[in-house]
Amino acid sequence: MFCRNYREKGSDQLVISTGKLRIENNEEVDFTSEDLLDEGEIGRGAYGTVNKMTYKKTGLAMAVKRIRSTVDEKQQKQLKMDLDVVMNSSNCPYIVQFYGVLFKEGDCWICMELMDSSFDKFYRFVYERLKERIPEVVLGKIALATVKALHYLKEHLEIIHRDVKPSNILLDRRGAIKLCDFGISGQLVDSIAKTRDAGCRPYMAPERIDPLTGSGYDVRSDVWSLGMTLYELAIGRFPYPKWNSVFEQLTQVVNGPAPQLQNNYNGVEYTHEFVNFVNTCLIKEEQSRPKYSQLIEHPLIKSYEGKEVDISRYFTNILNQMEAQGYATYTMNDQWP
Ligand code: ATP
Ligand code: MG
Repeated sequence: MFCRNYREKGSDQLVISTGKLRIENNEEVDFTSEDLLDEGEIGRGAYGTVNKMTYKKTGLAMAVKRIRSTVDEKQQKQLKMDLDVVMNSSNCPYIVQFYGVLFKEGDCWICMELMDSSFDKFYRFVYERLKERIPEVVLGKIALATVKALHYLKEHLEIIHRDVKPSNILLDRRGAIKLCDFGISGQLVDSIAKTRDAGCRPYMAPERIDPLTGSGYDVRSDVWSLGMTLYELAIGRFPYPKWNSVFEQLTQVVNGPAPQLQNNYNGVEYTHEFVNFVNTCLIKEEQSRPKYSQLIEHPLIKSYEGKEVDISRYFTNILNQMEAQGYATYTMNDQWP
C-alpha cells in the first residue's frame, strides 16, 4: 500500500511516503510531496491548512489539505481504502473530486479538485462588503446541489458527512457547487473533534449536542446542519445569536426552539417553498426531521432541477470583485459565528 522510500541524507534516514495520485484519464501514478509545487495557502481551518499546489509533471492544479494525523499504519491503510471508494465515484457533479492522499511526517495530505472559493467567504463578502444578498435562485441551486451530494454520499458510498457548513460547500466560476470534507478528511477531523467540545461545532444538531442522547449518527443530523447553512446563507449571518460559552450553545440548541426562517426578513421576501425547505430541515425533533429521500422530493428541489439559472455569471462577477479587493486569499479561522 504505502511504499516507503528510504533516502540517505547524511547519516539520517528520511522517510518519504508515497501515495497514488489519480489524474486525468483516470490514470494512476505514484507520487510524493516532492512532485508537488506549493503555490501558497488558500485557506486555514481548525484542523489544518489548505494550499494550492501543482503536480509538476502535468501542471494539474489542486487543493491540498494537510491535517495533523496521529493514525498508525493500519489506520492509514483503512483510510486509503476508504479514499479509493471516494475516488472511484466521480459521477456525482456535486462532490469535490479526490486525486489522492499521502502521509508525510505525521501529516495527512489530501489532494483534491481546486475550486475558487467556499460559501463562508463568499456570503460574508456579499452581505458585509457589498451590502447585497445572495438571490434566492442561487440559494435554491445551493440547496439542490448540497442535498443531492449528501444523498449520493449516503446511497452510493455509505458516507454520512457530519460537518455540513458553508465552508465545506465550494464554488467556482463555471457555476459548479460542490460539497467537500467528507470521507477521509471527515474521519480525520472527526477523530480530532471527538476530543473537543461541541462548542467548536456550531452547526451541530440538538441530538448531537445533548449529552443525554447517545444514539448513533443519523443522516438527519446532517439535515439539520444543512438547514442551518441555508438559513445563514439566506440572511447573511449565523441563525442563532452569538453564544458566549459552550453552555449557552447547549442551552439554546438543546432547550430552546429551533431557528425558523420567516417569509420576510429585513424587507426581503422568500418563497414559501424555500422557507418551508429550510424550516423542514430545522425540525428540532430528530425523528420528525426528513431524510434525503423525502427532501429530494420537496417542491423546492423539484423546481430547481429543471431551472436555468446563470450562476456561472453570478459567481464570476462576485469572485472577480473578491479578487480585486484581495478577498480570495482571505482566510477564515473563527469558529464562533
Ligand atoms: P473547519 O476547520 O472547522 O472544518 P474549514 O472548513 O473552513 O473549517 P478547511 O476545511 O481546512 O477548514 O478549509 C479551509 C478553507 O480552505 C475553506 O474555508 C475553503 O475556503 C478553502 N478550501 C478548502 N478546500 C478547498 C478546495 N478544494 N478548493 C478551494 N478552496 C478550498
Ligand atoms: Mg472544510
